[in-house]
Amino acid sequence: MRPPAGIDGGAGDGGAGGAGGNRGAGDSATGDAVARGSGATDWETVVGLEVHCELKTQTKLFCCCKNAFGDEPNTNVCPVCLGLPGSLPVLNAFAVELAMRIGAALHCEVRPSSFHRKNYFYPDMPKDYQISQYDEPINVGGWLDLPDGSRVRIVRAHLEEDTGKTTHQGESGRIHAADYALVDYNRAGVPLVEIVSEPDIRSSAQARRYVTELRAVLVATGASDGRMEEGSLRVDANVSVRRAGTTAYGTRCEIKNLNSLRSLGRAIDYETARQIALLEATGVVDQETRHWDESGGRTIPLRSKEEAFDYRYFPEPDLVPLVPEAEWQARAAGSVGLLPSARRQRLVGLIGGAPSAHQVDQVDVVVAQGLDDLVVAAVAQGAPAELALVRAANELAADLDAALALDPGSFAQLLTMEAQGALTATQSKAVLAELIAAGGGDPAGIAAEKGFEALSQSSLAAVVREVVGANPEEWARFLAGEDKLAGFFTGQVMRATGGKADGKAIAAELRRLRR
Ligand code: ADP
Ligand code: MG
Ligand code: ZN
Repeated sequence: MRPPAGIDGGAGDGGAGGAGGNRGAGDSATGDAVARGSGATDWETVVGLEVHCELKTQTKLFCCCKNAFGDEPNTNVCPVCLGLPGSLPVLNAFAVELAMRIGAALHCEVRPSSFHRKNYFYPDMPKDYQISQYDEPINVGGWLDLPDGSRVRIVRAHLEEDTGKTTHQGESGRIHAADYALVDYNRAGVPLVEIVSEPDIRSSAQARRYVTELRAVLVATGASDGRMEEGSLRVDANVSVRRAGTTAYGTRCEIKNLNSLRSLGRAIDYETARQIALLEATGVVDQETRHWDESGGRTIPLRSKEEAFDYRYFPEPDLVPLVPEAEWQARAAGSVGLLPSARRQRLVGLIGGAPSAHQVDQVDVVVAQGLDDLVVAAVAQGAPAELALVRAANELAADLDAALALDPGSFAQLLTMEAQGALTATQSKAVLAELIAAGGGDPAGIAAEKGFEALSQSSLAAVVREVVGANPEEWARFLAGEDKLAGFFTGQVMRATGGKADGKAIAAELRRLRR
C-alpha cells in the first residue's frame, strides 16, 4: 500500500532504515502482509465491517410501496414512507423471514427484538428519523468462515429501513460544487439488514474476501440480489492500526458507504497508511467518520467524535415487539439454500482427492456464478468431473444466463464424447457453444453436422510424419532442442487436417518421434 501523498513526506520518525520513508509499504498485491510505516516497527491493520444489505422483498419494510431499483423517481411512495402525520407502519413479514434466514446462514441466535427511532435530520429522510433495531436486534452472535480458512465473527445482524437518495446536480456530482440537489424517496423505507462484524479482519484483501463470501451467502439465502453496483450492498469500514504483536485496539475511523470491492480495498489501504503516518508523527489518531473520495483516491473527514450525532434513540411507539414463534424460525432456517462453502465442498468431493490450485480457482468461479448445480447434474449423468468443472469455469461463464438454462444431459453427453476421444477439445467447445445457444440438444448430431470426427491415432501419426518430412530444417532444429518449434509443427498439422487434430495428441506424437 502507498502512504497518502502529503502525509508520507516528513511523517517518519527518522528511525533506522530510513529508505525514503516508504519502506516496505509495497504489499498492495495481496494486502495480506503486515503493514509497515516509515519507522522501524511493523503495524497491523484491524478492520470491522458494517454491511448494509437491501432485502429482495416485493414491498417496503413498513408499507405496501414497491421495492424496486431504477423506477421513475418518487413513484413508489405513500404517506407511511413519506412520514406524513397520522400514518402508521406495518411490519413486512417477508422481510422478517429474510432477516431470520440471514441469521441462520451466519450461525446467529435469533432473538425476540424491538424497533427504535434513530433521530437525525437529513434531506433524503422524510420522517427525520429512521426506524432501526437498537439494543434488541433480531440476530446476535455468529460467524462467517472464509475460503482462506479464516473466521470472522458476527456481532449482530439487525433490521432497519433504508433512506431515500439525493443526487447532487452539477459538474462535480458532489455536494460542494452542486447547483442543486434532487431527492428520490423510492428507496426510503426499503428493508435492510445491517450485518456488523467483530474487528477480526486484518487486511484489505481479507476484507474483500469477507464481503465476497458474505455477498454469496446473502444471494444463496434469497435475501439479496447482491448487486453492489446498484447499491444493494453497501459497506462501512472501521479501520484502526496497532503495533504488530500488541493486543489492544487502536483508535478507529469509520469510512462510510463503500459500494465496490475495489473502493473497499483502496480505502482500507489508504486509511491504514494515513493512520500509521499520523501515529508515527504525532502518536494519535482522532476518532472520525470519513468519506472515501474515489477519484482522489483518499479518505476525507466528515465529522469528528465531538460532532457525532446524538441520535436520541427511543422505542418506536407504533410497532409492537417482534417475537417470531419457534415454528416460523425453523421454517426460515430450513429454507436457506445450500451455502457457498457447502457448494464448494460438494464440487471438490466430485473431483476426489486433493484439488490442484487451478481446480480450487475453478471451483470458486463455478460456485460464485451459480453453475455448480449444472456440473453436479452432469456428473450424475456420467460426465467426467474434472472436465465438467473446467468447461463450466472457462466456457459456460461467458454467456451465463444461457448457460444456466443448459440441459445437463446434453452437457454430460458431450463431455463423455470428448473424454472418449471422439471429439477434440476444440471441436467439443464448438459443439458446446451450440448447445448453450439452444439450451441443449444432441451433441453427436451437432458434431456430425459440423463434420467433426476425431482423427484416428494412425492417420494423425501419418499426417505428423508427412509434415516432418516436408520441413526437414525445422525438424532438425526441433531435435536439437529448439522447443518452440512444437508450435510450428502443431500449426502445420492443424492446417493439414482442417483443425480436426487434437493439440494434445499432436504434442504426444511429436514427443514420440523426437525420442
Ligand atoms: P458503533 O456502535 O459506534 O458503530 P461498535 O462498537 O458497534 O461501534 O462497532 C462498530 C464496528 O466497528 C464493528 O464492526 C466493530 O467490529 C468495529 N470496530 C470497533 N472497534 C474497532 C477498532 N478499534 N478497529 C477497527 N474496527 C473496530
Ligand atoms: Mg457504526
Ligand atoms: Zn410507502
